[in-house]
Amino acid sequence: MVDPAECTIKVMCRFRPLNKSEVERGDKYIPKFTGEDQVSISGKPFMFDRVFGSNTTQEQMYKASAQKIVKDVLDGYNGTIFAFGQTSSGKTHTMEGSLHDPDGMGIIPRIVQDIFNYIYSMDENLEFHIKVSYFEIYLDRIKDLLDGTYCLLWHSRHPHLTILEIYIGCTERFVCSPDEVMDTIDEGKSNRHVAVTNMNEHSSRSHSIFQINVKQENTATEQKLSGKLYLVDLAGSEKVGKTGAEGAVLEEAKNINKSLSALGNVISALAEGSTYVPYRDSKMTRILQDSLGGNCRTTMVICASPSAYNEAETKSTLMFGQRAK
Ligand code: ADP
Ligand code: MG
Repeated sequence: MVDPAECTIKVMCRFRPLNKSEVERGDKYIPKFTGEDQVSISGKPFMFDRVFGSNTTQEQMYKASAQKIVKDVLDGYNGTIFAFGQTSSGKTHTMEGSLHDPDGMGIIPRIVQDIFNYIYSMDENLEFHIKVSYFEIYLDRIKDLLDGTYCLLWHSRHPHLTILEIYIGCTERFVCSPDEVMDTIDEGKSNRHVAVTNMNEHSSRSHSIFQINVKQENTATEQKLSGKLYLVDLAGSEKVGKTGAEGAVLEEAKNINKSLSALGNVISALAEGSTYVPYRDSKMTRILQDSLGGNCRTTMVICASPSAYNEAETKSTLMFGQRAK
């Protein structure tokens, strides 16, 4: 039985800086930071575990929102970190950033480095097996990003992976160094590029999920530990205008709304300690089920634009984050 007090859901909120076109348009910078854990938008206050202003560095973000989860995974817990927000709010910047630049690295590459630093610091009696998977969910279908042939067949009738098959079906890559992990991520991203014509549009319409699994065994005592972490860059949360969207675009939008609201329902059920958690309502929550709630560590990073132009979206983004508190 899981102790509800053990179930920790943390919600962090990060505002990116105004971008070039917002500055050129003369957009007003609207968030008012009124403490480490509070921000207000046009007088309406929102509380989170932590709030991060526009000049927060990648390192500060990592230390305050993700570093602790690494220790938990190495202690044998499962966990999930999500980035939620409208397109262009900084989700990919926060989760991934630039993989090969020490200052620009986001949460994923920093986690990878910390896991390996820990391994390198341990004594010889410990044996580690690290494996990663990388996939995306688009229109409720799972696509393995580490299987190039699979991605090339994306437009054909190649059968999509189903939930039951995911662990057998999705490529699991054993990795021995941070560089190998970064190469694996680059490989997954290039497979994604091959499969779609407009990458930016596509990535804002799909959820991408990177999984790291850490198994360790003490060869002297035979004691074993296993923990895993899902790192999720969610589809853009913006509402699609009622007019204009039709056909495939409307289908995508409905699907994204459905999967994000299913996620919201799961997170708020967990936050309320409710006995029924509707994991089965979407493919994503079914996949993440063993790493969400219960004994798991869950962190939601709410990403937002500071521009007055996006005020309505920003408010609805922040409301989503508050449901988890
Ligand atoms: P999303 O993944 O939510 O669509 P991105 O992470 O791609 O958004 O961010 C959009 C743009 O804004 C990118 O060019 C990114 O580098 C930049 N950006 C996002 N967050 C920040 C930040 N905190 N500091 C500086 N630039 C940022
Ligand atoms: Mg993105």
